[in-house]
Amino acid sequence: MGVPGSFADRAPAGLADTELFAVDAYRTTFDARVVEVDREGGRLRLDRTAFYPTGGGQPHDTGTLTGPEGAVAVTGVRRESGLIWHTVAADPGALPEVGTEVGGEVDWSRRFQLMRTHTALHILCGVIWADHGIPVTGGNMEPLKGRLDFPFPAMSADLGAQVERRINDEIERAHEIVVDFLPRNVADADPALIRTAAHLIPAAIDPLRIIDIVGPDRQADGGTHVLSTAEVGRVKVTGTESKGKDNKRIRLEVVDA
Ligand SMILES: [Zn+2]
Repeated sequence: MGVPGSFADRAPAGLADTELFAVDAYRTTFDARVVEVDREGGRLRLDRTAFYPTGGGQPHDTGTLTGPEGAVAVTGVRRESGLIWHTVAADPGALPEVGTEVGGEVDWSRRFQLMRTHTALHILCGVIWADHGIPVTGGNMEPLKGRLDFPFPAMSADLGAQVERRINDEIERAHEIVVDFLPRNVADADPALIRTAAHLIPAAIDPLRIIDIVGPDRQADGGTHVLSTAEVGRVKVTGTESKGKDNKRIRLEVVDA
């Protein structure tokens, strides 16, 4: 497949045709067929989707599904037992039947904000590792806002300002971002991936999807990212907090350059 910045040909069989977001974060429209309907739950499954399901700290996409009866809003997307369910704003009787062809459209404004934010958080991981040798332990994000936790012994506003400068320097270098898929025996021997504890991911997940911000950060990840760090814009560190001994939180916001 000719997706820029992606080794989609190394993806697990079928992934590139079913979970479109996994190989092309910039794809917003797609055609699909309804394969399962949960009327009570107000949700449905499709044979392929570009909607990202909540996971890895990244919130789900929103958007619309348009069938013969018109468009319905997608208000939630979740993965359950490996299957992706789209919650839609429609009466149970108005949900499409199995077999219906629908057109999907992801709300690009929200998705792109999440991509910029997710990439910014990975740059933060990379900067903290490069400068302090400390791995990330947790985090979360919403569009244009995120936070990560690190087992720092101490945290100061000065450190926050220094981290902000470092992140923005890396953004300006316009590092390429590559989506790759690595066999587990290769991934488990990769120093950057060991550093981010990728070996704790169940061995059944093979190959492993890798987000490589070429230079500053490389880690196993299921999320959607921009193609160049320049697309992030700028980052402001908006808070540094102590969440207890050896647990310090860094908050950031993503703004236009
Ligand atoms: Zn991530």
